[in-house]
Amino acid sequence: MTKSGSAVKVLFVTTELAPFSKVGGLGDVAGSLPKALRQAGVDVRVVTPAWPGVLERVAALGIKTTTVKTKVYAAYDWRIHSANVIKATVDGVTIYFLNSEDYSGSQYPSQLNFWSASPFAVFCMQALELKDAIDWEPDIYHCHDWTSAFLPCALAWHRHYRQTGGKSIMTLHNVAYQGILEPSPFLEASGLEPWSFNSSTMEFYGQVNLLKGGIVAATAVTTVSPTYANEIQTYESTRELSGILYQQRSKLRGIINGLDVKFWDPNGDKAIPAKFSAKDLKGKAACKKALLERAGFDPKSDAPVIVCVSRLVEQKGFDMVFNGAAQIAETGAKLLILGSGNDWIENGIIQASETYPQSIKLFKGYDEPLSHLMYAGGDIFLMPSVFEPCGLSQMISMRYGTVPVVREVGGLRDTVFDVDRPEGGNGFTFQTCDVDGMMWALRRAVDRYNNNKAQWKEIMLEGMHEDFTWDKSAGLYKNLYDELMQ
Ligand code: ADP
Repeated sequence: MTKSGSAVKVLFVTTELAPFSKVGGLGDVAGSLPKALRQAGVDVRVVTPAWPGVLERVAALGIKTTTVKTKVYAAYDWRIHSANVIKATVDGVTIYFLNSEDYSGSQYPSQLNFWSASPFAVFCMQALELKDAIDWEPDIYHCHDWTSAFLPCALAWHRHYRQTGGKSIMTLHNVAYQGILEPSPFLEASGLEPWSFNSSTMEFYGQVNLLKGGIVAATAVTTVSPTYANEIQTYESTRELSGILYQQRSKLRGIINGLDVKFWDPNGDKAIPAKFSAKDLKGKAACKKALLERAGFDPKSDAPVIVCVSRLVEQKGFDMVFNGAAQIAETGAKLLILGSGNDWIENGIIQASETYPQSIKLFKGYDEPLSHLMYAGGDIFLMPSVFEPCGLSQMISMRYGTVPVVREVGGLRDTVFDVDRPEGGNGFTFQTCDVDGMMWALRRAVDRYNNNKAQWKEIMLEGMHEDFTWDKSAGLYKNLYDELMQ
């Protein structure tokens, strides 16, 4: 609530947005949190680039759009960059897609340099200009990860925007990705004051670090789980930003992510062959059968099915999975992995699947419908992350009655609790980040599935009954917005 008593106006500035341009958890959050915030009484809107294919996806979903009369403009590299503003309303949330040739390249450039960083700076400045085109001025700009971290930097240090004023929140979905590039000619082209480049602002070992700048410049900083908020002040996964995060800790808080529980609902999911719920689990067996068939395994097998749906990057701990392939195969379980990412990890998994073809199967790539079948058809969801800001997959798996086996780190620690604690829990957890640690938890899970079906059902139901809605966390974000308006 603002001082005048009207609803606080928040513009989400995001370069990923489910279901149009999702790459990982950030896309899910940007797609679902605004809906919950609206219900909590926040006047929230979203601005996002129309990356290649995005407007086609909007049209394919039958969503009506209109083009706003006025374009948005941003000055960058001695040129005016303009974009058409395409407006759509999805579940009551107004979304502005910025459409221009600036957004015709890669959503995540493999190398960040002056050219590949330009769309992100231009996007942030166009987001700041949007208010004039739509006649709606945000009280707060809510930015997400390095890709929109230029916006708080601009509000603090840009020769024009620092005079316009404005509040910003920087949400850290993953501190390992920081947006680092050479200062020249970026700084000059972007319009940032030369004095904005020093060790207490954006400078980072002689380079520009956009995320560091965003953290320093933002009015408030949040991250996506309370445990990760603590870890990043000391933890190596931050790639050396822990010092700055410790220094800025008074404006940092951890708010756990929620899920779009309507979208991720085994009782209404159109992508799975049979629906099921906590009240009636029968359909899950049909999903398991369909998944085993799809993997080329015997569909009648009662062996536990371990599933992983993930980006195959170092963070996710898949070296433990392929290095532990022999032990996993020995348990008699089937392991099905959906994902793509780094070559060395993909190759490790391919090799494991060729060595143990009766036990391990890799579905390489990004496949949304198949991910739903994996969540629905699995018995165990394996997520041995080295670090994990929040993690959504373990929550999705619990919604689908697939019991998580996770490392006790970041948001996994805040959402998965070991069943062998005196007070019980909803999954199996381990601490030691190696094959032995992972196998200790995985073997307990496989053993419980094989030998104690009654307890297994209880664990499944515990997860299915967890409250993963956004309600509580949306309230915490609303409190933060209200605090910033005081
Ligand atoms: P991160 O954001 O680090 O990728 P999260 O667990 O927070 O991890 O979110 C991952 C999201 O991306 C989940 O919705 C998951 O289902 C989805 N996802 C990851 N890899 C794939 C894939 N290969 N195919 C389909 N969906 C995927």
